[in-house]
Formats: sequence, C-alpha cells, structure tokens
Amino acid sequence: MTTIEHRIGGAPARGASTRTAPVYDPATGEATGRVLLAEPSDVDAAVAAAAKAFASWGDSSLSRRTKVMFRLRELLVRHEDDLARLVSAEHGKTVEDARGEVVRGREVVEYACGIATELKGAYSDQVSGGVDVFSFRQPLGVCAGITPFNFPVMVPMWMHPVAIATGNTFVLKPSERDPSASNLVAELYAAAGLPDGVFNVVHGDKAAVDAILDHPGIAAVSFVGSTPIAKYVHGRATAAGKRVQALGGAKNHAVVLPDADLDAAADHLTAAAFGSAGQRCMAVSVGVAVGAAGDALVDLLKRRAEAVKVGPGADPASEMGPVVTAAARDRITGLVAAGVDQGAVPVVDGRGLTVPGHEGGFFVGPTVLDRVTPDMDAYREEVFGPVLAVARAATVDEAIALVNASPYGNGTAIFTSSGAAARRFQREVQVGMIGVNVPVPVPMSYYSFGGWKDSLIGDSPVHGPDGVRFYTRAKTVTARWPEARRDADFNFPTSS
Ligand code: NAD
Repeated sequence: MTTIEHRIGGAPARGASTRTAPVYDPATGEATGRVLLAEPSDVDAAVAAAAKAFASWGDSSLSRRTKVMFRLRELLVRHEDDLARLVSAEHGKTVEDARGEVVRGREVVEYACGIATELKGAYSDQVSGGVDVFSFRQPLGVCAGITPFNFPVMVPMWMHPVAIATGNTFVLKPSERDPSASNLVAELYAAAGLPDGVFNVVHGDKAAVDAILDHPGIAAVSFVGSTPIAKYVHGRATAAGKRVQALGGAKNHAVVLPDADLDAAADHLTAAAFGSAGQRCMAVSVGVAVGAAGDALVDLLKRRAEAVKVGPGADPASEMGPVVTAAARDRITGLVAAGVDQGAVPVVDGRGLTVPGHEGGFFVGPTVLDRVTPDMDAYREEVFGPVLAVARAATVDEAIALVNASPYGNGTAIFTSSGAAARRFQREVQVGMIGVNVPVPVPMSYYSFGGWKDSLIGDSPVHGPDGVRFYTRAKTVTARWPEARRDADFNFPTSS
C-alpha cells in the first residue's frame, strides 16, 4: 500500500502529518493507498516555500513564465495516459472519460500560454496637457486552491495555470479521496522548469482547509466543491481578508421540447446523466419533458439507461464506472429510495447492481425516476450519482419557471428545433452556463466557467478573463514628464 505524501518546495514531504486517510479503488472497494492529512504546520511550511518562491517568480519575465507553460503543455500531452489511469484508479471513472478531463485541463494551460496577451494593460495618451494614464496588473502573492474529488486534474487546472502564469505561487489542497494525480502534476511542473516552491501540494481534510482559510500569508483562495462548504470557505476566508472565488454544487435541468429530435435528446441526456456515474457538476440530473415529449422521451430514456455498460473504469468496454466511495453509494441509493417512497416512478432502478468479478466495488446502476416533483428529496438534494429525475411541464413557461425556482444555477440545456424557443430560454433562465442542443455546456478555457446563485458564492468565475482578473490586481499610473530645460552651450561641459 502506497503512502501519498505532500509536495512542498519541490520535494516530497511528510512534515508533521501523522494522520492518514484511506484511498480506494472504487471498482474493487479495496484500499490501495493512504494519503497523509496535513497539520497546520504543514500548511505553514507550504506557504513559506511559496512565499520564498514568489520573491523571484513574481518578478520573472512574461516570456519565462510562458515558456514553462508551453513545456508543461507538451508534458501533459506525453503523460495524458498516465494521468488518466491515475484518475480512473482512484475516482472510478472510465479511463477514456478521465482522458477527457485531462484534455480539458490542458486547455487551460494552453490559455495560460497566451497570458501575455491577457495581461496587456490600457494606455490613454494626453488625458491632460502633458499627462498620460496607463494601467497594468500585478500578481497577488501566494494563492491557494481547494478542490473536489470529481475532477482531480481538470478542476485544479482551472486555477493553478492561470495563477502561476500571472506570476503568483500556489498551494493546492486536492480532495483526499483521489490525491495522486496532483503529485504527478507537481512532477510535471518541475520537469517543465518551474522553480521549486512555485507549485506546492498539501493533502488533507478540514484541518488543512481551515489552516489555509486563516493563514495570513495567503492572499487568495479558490474553492470548488459542494455548496455548504463553498459558503463556509467564502465566509471564513473573506473574514480573514482574502480574495475568494467559491464554486458550489448544482442541479442541472435539460428541457426537452416536443419539437426536438427526441432520439438525439435521449442519447445526450443519457450520456450527460450517467457519464462519470453522474459525478459531474455539469451532469444533467433533471430532464424536463415538456408537453407531448413526455411519455415518448421516458420510453427512450428507459431503453438507453438499460443499455449502459457498467464496469470497472479500467475496462475499455465500460461506459460507466462505480461511484467514488461506499458512503457515496449508500447516499445515492438512499435518495432513490426516498424518491420512490415520495411517489416517483422508478422506470429503471440501479440499486443493488453487482458487477461480476467486482462484487466489492461501489457500483450503482443507471437509474431513471419519472414524475419527480420539486418537493421530493431526490429533486431537492444534489444526488451526485447516476440518477436522472424526469419532471413533467405542460409548457415552456412552466419549464423555465421550474429551472428558475432551483436554488442552483450552474448549467442547463434546451433541446428544440425552434430558434425562437431557444433564444427565449437562454435569455430567461437564471443559470450561468447554457447549452442549446448541447447537454454539458462547459465553456472553453478562454471563456470563464461559473454558475449563478448557490452554484457560485461570491462573484468570480474561474479561468478565462475572470480568472486573470481574480489572480491579479491593477495599478493605474498618472504620469507627467516635464521636459528638462537645458540650454545649448558651446563651452566644454563641466560638472558645475
Ligand atoms: P466537498 O465540498 O465535500 O469537498 C471539496 C473540498 O472541500 C475537498 O478538498 C474537501 O477536502 C474539502 N472539505 C470537505 N468538507 C470540508 C469541511 N467540513 N471543512 C473544510 N473543508 C472541507 O465536495 P466533493 O464531494 O469533493 O465534490 C463534489 C461537489 O463538488 C458537488 O457538490 C459538485 O457539484 C461540486 N462541484 C462543483 C463544481 C462547479 O464548477 N460548480 C465543479 C466540480 C464539483
């Protein structure tokens, strides 16, 4: 069994950590490693290493910083398979799906390769007689990231490439459930020529998080995770005077109108609900069938859900792997049971699924609950598993009202052949990321990613222009340079 250590100042470190947490292979249910859980003094050590590195990295040239990003990008291509396999082994998602998150994370590194363009300032000539005004942005110092289990490569990469390319140094506290990929990323940064201490990894639980939130040496905290913890992190870190971006949970609705291509919509809803066993913040967890779309859509979803191939993530034949832990499995099946008790119709019931040869794995089969209503626990709670709730709406107005009544506002999608309906939907829904005939509308890295309402606490989305703004602060200079008076003199100059 391996011990997963911190990575501080460019070297593996155990620090003062004596506590550990087990890391599982979700496909077998067996513990494959144990991860160190940091004490506050380990966070101190990482912040000290990052602060020391900031003295020179924060002053390094744009070309030096972007060269590191270009090299990192190449190393991420070369190690795509290694990263994907590490993610799959600890998270449970299929290797192909994990490859997708590595690619989407790498796209943020590609964005960071062009950081020089994003950091161009503004210049106003002659705002007054002989006076010019210009502005430019500088890094904040030591920044920290606290990230969830569901995208152990991509979500941290929403943060650290932008922070580091803009001149900051970084302390990452990844999820303790799938920690290994972050250590490989640290090694790739080192191989790319990043100086020691610019990128540090501290593993841990609440004790490490609290030490980060209170640490006077940390200027900014980026968080992605569930809404209650996002609110907690935002409150505590802003009270400590830090800049905070905090992305929370989600309940994403896909609205299907009767004029949509129902076959295509059912394909997309199935993939978006059950891909990664539903453990995506942009997963479709509610299908809203409008009017006559209802019964036909549910019938198609039933057939698609029953056909999903469930198995270990490392098996190329698997389309869907297990969920991350036994506790997650029990939570999900409990919410399905509550839904059925409260009147939902279990069209496909994935409870109790076993995969031959992997009887100890944390598997839940694809589940479709029809006739779900907003008062049911399976609707109100973020299930975060392979469960698609289907709600019925009589009209587009009713569907939009349902989406807008949700406390969450991360992603949503509409399936229709009507441009007018799509346009109305995109203008009226109170959601940050919208798909039109696209089920999982994750913005490209050069746009920013972030939801509305309880899906984003505070006001800063990640990466793209908002990410650059978050990790830098502006200076505005008003300058006058009076011309030095100097009379011409034919005599040989002296110092007097
Ligand atoms: P989580 O909130 O349990 O954990 C996130 C991080 O917070 C982890 O690093 C964890 O160690 C830490 N943490 C957990 N409990 C804590 C506590 N009591 N005090 C301090 N720190 C604590 O989330 P998770 O289960 O790892 O991830 C799934 C959640 O993340 C879902 O709600 C999902 O929607 C959300 N998510 C959101 C987005 C988004 O873009 N909005 C993206 C990915 C995941």
